[in-house]
Amino acid sequence: MTSHVLHRRLSGPPIPRAVSASGLIITDSDGREVIDASGGAAVSCLGHGHPRVVDAICRQAGKLAYAHNSFFTSEPAEELADLLVGHAPGNLATACFVAGGSEAMETALKLVRQYHLETGQPDRVHFIARRQSYHGNSLGALALSGNVARRAAYAPMLPRNFSHVSPADPVHGRLAGEDDAAMVARLAAELEAEFERVGPGRVAAFCAETVVGATAGALAAPAGYFAAIRRVCDRHGALLVLDEVMCGMGRTGTTHAWEQEAVTPDVQIVAKGLGGGYQPIGAVLAGARVAQAIANGSGSLMHGFTYMGHPLACAAALAVQRVIAEDRLLDNVGAMGSLLMRTLSDRFGGHPRVADIRGRGLLVAVELGIDGPGGVPFAPAAKVADRIKARAMELGLACYPGAGTIDGVNGDHVLLAPPYIAQADDIARIVERLGEAVDSVC
Ligand code: PLP
Repeated sequence: MTSHVLHRRLSGPPIPRAVSASGLIITDSDGREVIDASGGAAVSCLGHGHPRVVDAICRQAGKLAYAHNSFFTSEPAEELADLLVGHAPGNLATACFVAGGSEAMETALKLVRQYHLETGQPDRVHFIARRQSYHGNSLGALALSGNVARRAAYAPMLPRNFSHVSPADPVHGRLAGEDDAAMVARLAAELEAEFERVGPGRVAAFCAETVVGATAGALAAPAGYFAAIRRVCDRHGALLVLDEVMCGMGRTGTTHAWEQEAVTPDVQIVAKGLGGGYQPIGAVLAGARVAQAIANGSGSLMHGFTYMGHPLACAAALAVQRVIAEDRLLDNVGAMGSLLMRTLSDRFGGHPRVADIRGRGLLVAVELGIDGPGGVPFAPAAKVADRIKARAMELGLACYPGAGTIDGVNGDHVLLAPPYIAQADDIARIVERLGEAVDSVC
């Protein structure tokens, strides 16, 4: 069958055509069933075809699919904002709905800029992020991102008011004999030095994924890291922006991953688990300080997209979030996350080609390496993770590959992010098929 779609991969075997899906299973046009073990990249938090979400979308489509956000708000947008920030932990006060993660990050960058303008700090135009990070593919979000491969082709087009410090990577980034406290102190000192290099009153925000997703593979910072960098930001009058596009909305076992870090961000972005893939939606959530600065200042957001606050997308996300709460699915994320880690450790513990197994909740990565635990990464040209993805698809398993990215230190990995509805037999089947794929590739 000829395809006129500009697919991500334009050579090699044709990409299968998904025709239907239910729960964890996606069926293609040849009738082949594939277990969706990663929800693309951690998107499908409720699995596929959830009847309460489908019903909510149909009802909303019949009532109101779209009304431009500069003329109208809508019931689902208002109810979703109430749910996300009305009773939330921390000091969240306002929500802005966009069409996905990159739009959310672009919006967050502009919101931070506007906050500083409204509060009389127009020179704060510099953003600091980390080298092992991904914040989106639009040019502003890509400039913020440290993902070398995704930046490479566009480097000459990226704005220059962005810089990067070391990742908080306790697996590959520890100095000899360094414990968590010493590592955190070193990283905080490096950030402090970067603030000083950029200059007083120039940094707008420090931005980081609370748990690094696809770039490093489910990598959490050492204990105390976020509290330490929060103190550095506060000392320099910069905002803390946390990117929870992948790790947020319950994926790590709490609604926000930062709840496990004893900090609250000034601005936060979420996306994938917000709408669970039922509609394209992302959100910027901001604290009272930011919301009030704008309300008391110019009184309007200096930014907009046509599909902001899309009623149908908000209705889908509202239904997804209600199902998660009503069915107490975060309890299941905790239980199935622990089971997944145990089952992976049983299957791959001491495996000559597995360097590390890590994660939080149902965001888990298996890192590959030549000499087993703690081992040397495979050469990038070997494309080990891509080959595992391809073999796993043949075996009826969809899992998300990640190439080793930082200075050749961290290796390729495979990301697993099953839906929050996953059960023990799903976990067993996922690990069994992944084991077969890893064994046959490397
Ligand atoms: N931020 C993080 C942490 C992500 O993982 C992603 C996507 O993978 C993005 C931002 C960009 O989101 P989107 O692809 O929806 O634009």
